[in-house]
Amino acid sequence: MSKDSQTPPRTVPVLVPLPAERPYSYAVPDGMSVLPGSIVRVPLGPREVAGIVTGGETDSVDAKKLRSISAIFDCPPVEPQMLRFIQWAADYTLSPPGMVARMLLRVPAAFDPEPPIPGLRYVGVRPDRLTEARSRIMELAEDGMAWTRSGLAHAAGVSLTVVDGLKAQGVFEEVMIPPRPVVALPDVAYARPDLSPDQRAAADMLVENVSTQAFSVSLLDGVTGSGKTEVYFEAVAKAIEQGRQVLILLPEIALTQQFLDRFHDRFGAKPAEWHSDLAPRMRERVWRQVAEGQVRVVAGARSALFLPFCDLGLIVVDEEHDPAYKQEDRVFYNARDMAVVRGHIGSFPVVLASATPSIESQVNAEQGRYKRIRLSARYAEAAMPDLKTIDMRRSPPPPGRFLSPVLTGAIAKTLERKEQALLFLNRRGYAPLTLCRVCGHRFQCPSCSSWLVEHRFRGQLMCHQCGYHEPTPQSCPSCGALDHLVACGPGVERIAEETSAAFPDARIIVLSSDLLGGVKRLRLELEAVAKGEADIVIGTQLVAKGHNFPDMTLVGVIDADLGLANGDPRAAERTFQLLNQVTGRAGRTGRKSLGLLQTYQPDHPVMRAIVSGDAQAFYAREIEERERSGLPPFGRLAALIVSANSRGEAEGHARGLRRAAPSSPEIAVLGPAEAPLALIRGRHRFRLLVHGTKRADIQAFIRTLLASGPKERGSVRVQVDIDPQSF
Ligand code: ADP
Ligand code: ZN
Repeated sequence: MSKDSQTPPRTVPVLVPLPAERPYSYAVPDGMSVLPGSIVRVPLGPREVAGIVTGGETDSVDAKKLRSISAIFDCPPVEPQMLRFIQWAADYTLSPPGMVARMLLRVPAAFDPEPPIPGLRYVGVRPDRLTEARSRIMELAEDGMAWTRSGLAHAAGVSLTVVDGLKAQGVFEEVMIPPRPVVALPDVAYARPDLSPDQRAAADMLVENVSTQAFSVSLLDGVTGSGKTEVYFEAVAKAIEQGRQVLILLPEIALTQQFLDRFHDRFGAKPAEWHSDLAPRMRERVWRQVAEGQVRVVAGARSALFLPFCDLGLIVVDEEHDPAYKQEDRVFYNARDMAVVRGHIGSFPVVLASATPSIESQVNAEQGRYKRIRLSARYAEAAMPDLKTIDMRRSPPPPGRFLSPVLTGAIAKTLERKEQALLFLNRRGYAPLTLCRVCGHRFQCPSCSSWLVEHRFRGQLMCHQCGYHEPTPQSCPSCGALDHLVACGPGVERIAEETSAAFPDARIIVLSSDLLGGVKRLRLELEAVAKGEADIVIGTQLVAKGHNFPDMTLVGVIDADLGLANGDPRAAERTFQLLNQVTGRAGRTGRKSLGLLQTYQPDHPVMRAIVSGDAQAFYAREIEERERSGLPPFGRLAALIVSANSRGEAEGHARGLRRAAPSSPEIAVLGPAEAPLALIRGRHRFRLLVHGTKRADIQAFIRTLLASGPKERGSVRVQVDIDPQSF
């Protein structure tokens, strides 16, 4: 036996994208140098996967089963703070660290980096004879920049043979051109705005935070149109000046093209985008260039938190209250909260911006954990829209219609002035419920506990939970009656039908997430609206977010009560935020504007708060109520969702877990009860709520409960949702 074979192989722990609690050990091949944070490719069963090295090398004890790292990804190792962030997120959300790491490792082609392309560079030797065509090429090439052969010919407007001729003379050398940066460097001095005194004061505070390069959280709070974006751009500029990277989180990044343009107007370059609609090649480029530090500013969806920043120095969470920041799939997390943790781990400031901050952030600001920075008025002469309720009991629409005479009148006046109206209804499709007038049959999804929604443009009945759809039948499947199906209640398509009947000459655009043509089409439509190419826009909540429509002077909310009915303690807060946001679309450029809320409850605190503009009183009341009932942020909550193929199995398992709950003076387990969506895709769901005091260690409690209770078996699955959205 040689001496070598007795030396135990060097091994490293590698976290792989699996529901594994611990990293696996892999041998490091001779000559390969890996560091904590290195991204590697490792064999896993019959496959190979990307993994992340989480620690230093040790000598293996058990060499037999050991497999070797097959490749190392040629980019800088991920920062140690990212590893700590992954571990923290795993502990907090009670997810296996591998599943959190998976969010970082989701770059499919990462191991085959984009190859450099061959190019030509001027070597300083003049051509022997300078024709007209040749001199045009020389003009371009003289500064020593590398060009591709065809790029050079094309730019000079000459044929390839001219380029080849010069090359044959030794005027050019062959070089490799590295992949192009996905975005240019932002220029902090490109177009500094003149800030109002209010904005200046707010910006100075944020800039000061960035200068100290220490952890802090600021809540930038100001009505829609108060200029929050311009203010936090100053903080972004400061971070860039300091050579650090910046992450701006946005709730609907795929649809906020306008945001990218605004950033460009300010910094002379776009930020890198990060969201699920990016093409795979682009994802890979952004990922790499973030890791290498070439990309300085990322504007992204929540998943951008798991990009491998090499020197992150600021996170801005815009519209921090938005429910879209909550991921409810595999790892359940709220990106707003995780951003704060990321800032803490990385010792840099975090800015939360909103016109209607979440109750959680409000309380954090009141209790001094967050610094509150307020902008009190709209920027320049833009006034807030005049907001009024329409009491639907007094001004009811004609039978079978949904627009009250008051709203119809307001639309008519808006059209006369050649301005735009937005009609908002947070319901896709034509009608939320279809039934048979003869036998009362209701159309239900075969695999979910939800009604099928009629989509008349598509001629389909569709389930909004699972996507199941069928052609809208002529006759009732239950009693066979022909042409007796009735639509109950409105969706945006039905409002469009009513509106075009009332205003036949108006140009009407319906915007909802099921628009045929997807995100691309939506972007185009949003642009068209901003350019004034529509008179009436009818849309779901995706029109409420962040868009700037200069000609929009009327916002009509078709059913302001819609979100209030579901009995969730968060319903009032959410409805307030949504109504505030959508009415904020009106009057952003100084013209007189109006927001009308159709409601059957004009005295509801939410409606009063919107109409009076007195958000503070509303928040105070909501906060008091939360405090009285010990709900977040005054207490802690988690949900355990138990799902199974049969109702009995799901319920039985949930009961078993309940019985296994340790007794605790600080924590109570409620339920099981049917989950808010009791059946999705054929899976029956029950829910246990774990409610603790502020100090309770709810994670430890749930860990014990899961360890001592019945194990997942057969079709049964248990998902943990810390800080659930609805409770
Ligand atoms: P918010 O983010 O608070 O909704 P924005 O930052 O979008 O507000 O500002 C509202 C409008 O006012 C935008 O059109 C913006 O370009 C303009 N604006 C805000 N501040 C300034 C400024 N200092 N100079 C010029 N325009 C500004
Ligand atoms: Zn369904």
